[in-house]
Amino acid sequence: MKPSESNPRFRQDVPQEMARLDHRDLRDDEFWRAIPAYAQLSRDEFNDYRFQSRNCVTSLRKLQQVIGEKMDPAFYRDVEEGIVRSTMSLRISPYLISLIDWENPYDDPLRIQFLPLGSQMREDHPELRLDSLAEQDDSPVPGLTHRYRDRALFLALDTCPVYCRFCTRSYAVGLDTEDVEKVHFGALTDRWQEVFTYVESRPELEDLVISGGDVANLKAEHIEHIGMRLLDIEHVQRMRFASKAPAIMPQKLITDRAWTDALIRVVEEGRVRGKEVSLHTHFNHPVEITEITRGALEPLVQRGVIIRNQTVLQRRVNDTPNTMQLLVQRLGWLGVKPYYVFVHDMVRGVEDLRTSLQTAIKLEKQVRGLTSGFNTPNFVLDTMGGGGKRNVHAFEVYDRNNGIAVYASPAVRPGDLFFYFDPIDELSPEAQDRWRDPIHRASMLEDAMQRARDCE
Ligand SMILES: *Cc1c(COP(=O)(O)O)cnc(C)c1O
Ligand code: SF4
Repeated sequence: MKPSESNPRFRQDVPQEMARLDHRDLRDDEFWRAIPAYAQLSRDEFNDYRFQSRNCVTSLRKLQQVIGEKMDPAFYRDVEEGIVRSTMSLRISPYLISLIDWENPYDDPLRIQFLPLGSQMREDHPELRLDSLAEQDDSPVPGLTHRYRDRALFLALDTCPVYCRFCTRSYAVGLDTEDVEKVHFGALTDRWQEVFTYVESRPELEDLVISGGDVANLKAEHIEHIGMRLLDIEHVQRMRFASKAPAIMPQKLITDRAWTDALIRVVEEGRVRGKEVSLHTHFNHPVEITEITRGALEPLVQRGVIIRNQTVLQRRVNDTPNTMQLLVQRLGWLGVKPYYVFVHDMVRGVEDLRTSLQTAIKLEKQVRGLTSGFNTPNFVLDTMGGGGKRNVHAFEVYDRNNGIAVYASPAVRPGDLFFYFDPIDELSPEAQDRWRDPIHRASMLEDAMQRARDCE
């Protein structure tokens, strides 16, 4: 019996988008064969992580070798200018290169995230700082940020399998580009020792984020060393390893068995001791998730590894309800918990990627209710100057005309107020003029601060 027969009041007119199942359609073709340099590769050859890491596109010349005549000289000139103006090194895996739609790379969500084009760059916001989250100010020992009371961020190394244009840690991550003299951490075990000693000395620390860089670039024995060393500290109850590998090089999990097994051993040892060890990853768009991804994550899911996802909200990448809904549903289908969607941090050279706070607020409304609350991401903004993460809706003041938001953060920095700024090119022409005038600018900031103080 159909439900409609038993209950005539049952609504038949379910909106079409509520019935969609396309999040389950994972790409399973040999899509890499459309790329001239990969046309001859078998599934096994393409899915070997050594092939993937050795053949990353790291320069314009390499891109030309791989894509060849598919693109014209004007496109390559645009890339060249983008690379010169970029704050991040270039490094794109063959997996990502193959998923880009080279018929229309200008609008492709993966191209936008990983390959800069000079023609699409915009001037930075005048209030922008390189380390806008002030991570270095909250750093008691090199490579550790202790901002929140019970948890800390351990930057174990400073390299990644690919480099993302939007990286928040462009002050530290990646090789030097022409633009930025980076602070070097280096994966030195001496430095790690200092971090472990600090964690031991702070009984309030219960939760460690092990990040970088990307822990995919740590050797298997280093994953195990760090994990077991931290599990030995009595007050450490939770830890997460942060890696973008599932999203940008799922082959790492499939064919680097030593690495994956080391991670699983730490998770299982944690479980025996009643401690939670999880994997945090970073998918931004549903096209990043293919059948290869499912194959990479399934063994972890089967072993009970908790996998959570953090997404960076980016203009023209994932700023529409349709894309964000599909991403959230697809992650849920794979057993990955959507944890956070971050409003893009204020970092240099990527103003074209930032959205307004208003965009995030609208998207949050479109996503909540789509699936279980435990599979629904929190839309947050990491405030400038070290106030930490705030729910996007929780502003004290949001002046949409001038694109100025002010947040309080009583559990992190009581008594202080923190700014966030919408991208100027999304404001009205009048507001853009106000930003150009230094006197107007100062009074807009002062005015927003005063209104926020009045709220308290
Ligand atoms: C995000 C973050 C953490 C972890 O915060 P959660 O809300 O637990 O994910 C810890 N330290 C720093 C500096 C962070 O930015
Ligand atoms: S993988 Fe993470 S740390 Fe590395 S460049 Fe991308 S965002 Fe930055």
